[in-house]
Amino acid sequence: MKAAVYDGPRTVTVKDVPDAKIEHPCDIIVKITATNICGSDLHMYEGRTSFESGRTLGHENMGQVVEVGPAVSKVQVGEYVVLPFNIACGFCKQCERGLTNYCLTMQPEPDLAGAAYGFADMGPYQGGQAELLRVPYGDFNALRLGEDAAERQSDYVMLADIFPTGYHATEMATRPSSSGPDPSG
Ligand SMILES: [Zn+2]
Ligand SMILES: [Zn+2]
Repeated sequence: MKAAVYDGPRTVTVKDVPDAKIEHPCDIIVKITATNICGSDLHMYEGRTSFESGRTLGHENMGQVVEVGPAVSKVQVGEYVVLPFNIACGFCKQCERGLTNYCLTMQPEPDLAGAAYGFADMGPYQGGQAELLRVPYGDFNALRLGEDAAERQSDYVMLADIFPTGYHATEMATRPSSSGPDPSG
């Protein structure tokens, strides 16, 4: 498959790489049909992070499911899905509290928490600026879209990061006491 591969500061090349494939029974494979370039991709592109050469960028992804692992029970082949940029298990202590951005299962480094597609320090996962994307725990991480998904992709792809990130920031700015832990304990 083709993918946008980081080869060092300010060097990203479309290359042939091995096809994304099912590696765990809960994985799904998505054929990417829309993906964004994020402001945070620039941190990696410009070489200001520990992002490793040879990795594929892209954490704002949507597309059509082309394969599901044997333990996937909800997501179906052929459905359009949008993938929130954080990769989370859905069952760890943090995920159960709704803090999926600090998932403890998907981050292999014990000193860190949280995972994402094609992102520095967020686990080994490849990004979606590629023809195919492996999505771990597909039943948890894929938001299944309705009948208008194909024609409204430029809207729905915004749900991967840009729109909810801005919405969350606005919520936090306007109602600080309702977000995050209560400082009074
Ligand atoms: Zn982003
Ligand atoms: Zn988790």
